Amino acid sequence: MNRIRLLSEQVANQIAAGEVVERPASVVKELVENSLDAQAARITVEIQAGGRSLVRVADDGAGMGRDDALLCLERHATSKIQRAEDLSSIATMGFRGEALPSIASVSRFCLTTREREGDSPEGTEVVVNGGKIAAVKASGSALGTSIEVRQLFFNLPARRKFLRSEETESAHIQHYLTLAALAHPAVAFEFIKDGRMAWQLPAVKVNDRLAALRERLRALRGAEDKLVDVDFSGVLPAYGQEEETKPAESRFAVWGFIGAPGVSRATREEQHVFVNRRPVENRGVNYALLEGYHTALMKGRYPVCSLFIEIDPAEVDVNIHPAKREIKFHREKAARQLLTQAVREALLAFHNPPMVKTAAPPLRLEPSAPPGETAPVPMELPEFPKLSKPLANWPSPALVEPIAPAPVTSLAKVESPPGLLHVPLRLVGVIGRLYVVLESDRGLVLLDQHAAHERVLFEQMMRRLEENAVAPSQRLLLPETVELPARDADFLRGQLPALTRLGVGLSEFGERTFLLDALPPFVRAREPRRFVMGLVDELKAVGQSVNTLRLGELVVAKTVCRHAVKANDLLAGPELENLVEDLRRCAMPYTCPHGRPTLIEMNFRELERKFGRSQ
Ligand SMILES: [Zn+2]
Repeated sequence: MNRIRLLSEQVANQIAAGEVVERPASVVKELVENSLDAQAARITVEIQAGGRSLVRVADDGAGMGRDDALLCLERHATSKIQRAEDLSSIATMGFRGEALPSIASVSRFCLTTREREGDSPEGTEVVVNGGKIAAVKASGSALGTSIEVRQLFFNLPARRKFLRSEETESAHIQHYLTLAALAHPAVAFEFIKDGRMAWQLPAVKVNDRLAALRERLRALRGAEDKLVDVDFSGVLPAYGQEEETKPAESRFAVWGFIGAPGVSRATREEQHVFVNRRPVENRGVNYALLEGYHTALMKGRYPVCSLFIEIDPAEVDVNIHPAKREIKFHREKAARQLLTQAVREALLAFHNPPMVKTAAPPLRLEPSAPPGETAPVPMELPEFPKLSKPLANWPSPALVEPIAPAPVTSLAKVESPPGLLHVPLRLVGVIGRLYVVLESDRGLVLLDQHAAHERVLFEQMMRRLEENAVAPSQRLLLPETVELPARDADFLRGQLPALTRLGVGLSEFGERTFLLDALPPFVRAREPRRFVMGLVDELKAVGQSVNTLRLGELVVAKTVCRHAVKANDLLAGPELENLVEDLRRCAMPYTCPHGRPTLIEMNFRELERKFGRSQ
């Protein structure tokens, strides 16, 4: 009797395993989540051959007594779901009642456990082979639980064949572990791969969640990327009256870190998003992030982030398919808007931290003193005359005082260093007729004149558009006609409304001919005709990739700016000073409107490393 029940159970488990256990990474995920549920403070994950020959997860959590150890291997046994209604608002990791028996049904499985608070001096060991319990015995195990899964899918050769290369499977495991480690900085994680310690993450004992996450991030990947804090709290708006049963308003909080402007990746791999501490995938979230970055991200690049969204569990649908991480927001649009706002505000605050607003020092185009010398030796730089008049919000005496480090006292609470545009910059020169070499107290700074100019023009143009609906333009003394091939003419016709609003005065003047009679004031093109032709070429190139007849105003504006910069003469002395000042006043100064960086910093530490002065 007992035997028959076990057999049918075994088959059911194998069927369930098809859904739960996709690959070794799903085994790791299930086991680690069990350890987290068991309040583990330390979790050790060991794999061999990409998890195909071994996955072992050991924890120091609550552990289990003999009865529970056997019970957890029964299908439908779960400590989390008491009633069917609980499914609708699971705030825990998810519904995984079938995970352990499923894993045990497709592997050589060994569970060793000892209760932390039990009276028994010894633990329990349960050995299961392909779903059949082979042995249950007492063992002298450590406190907590250790589960060993060997030869995954040994009894399902078709599934085993489906596994990818060791590297691919390891990468999946590592990705999952990264997510788990980010979501639980207070838990120590060890990851052993083919007998070698791959990671050793100490438990972070900091109460502040942002500080804890920052420390965990640093332990995981070093401090290569500049990150921006996000700490946002918003409200999902009330439902309409027709849905009175739903809550009126609901809290929506986002916290964590995002890459500073200019930090990006070619894939979404370093985009870690959690909802109620659970790693999730959601297309709306992906769009919202890109929206939030706006012009601070290059086309085809993706943000780097570790973001935690906190929301009433009743506001989301967690796909209870255990192997998937998809999630649905009931108020998707509102959630998306709030996330975009959170990212955007964080990026804007990165340039204008509220605490240092008044302390921001302006550009000081002063010749720099060699390190060690107390009084700067005055040198004349012929191309860059010294400032003759004080700059706005900077008392003039300061200009002749010895160079002092940026005031940082008010920054005590902020862990990250102030943005580049908040420290004094000293001009060194220009190389390649394009890159402005600057020096700060932190090291070397390079500014891409074109990118910087583009950003300044773009923001000016967008601001004017917001203010007057139409950007001002200057009439050409001699209107010019521009003749285009038929297809280009069709294309340009579609862009005329946007161009007109941006101050480019173009009108139809025949089938393939246009009359150009005005340009935006900042375009100082010597040959307006060539400016327009170039503009059309570039818009066409953009249009082809977007595959639409009418480009958005934003896209056209970006292109106009890029082209305006190309058409203009190279900037010289005083203009460069203004450029840096204008850049400081931008909302998003660290990238051009296409997301390319305007400034690059190489601090003294990096320089020392490159010159072999330090390791
Ligand atoms: Zn650009």
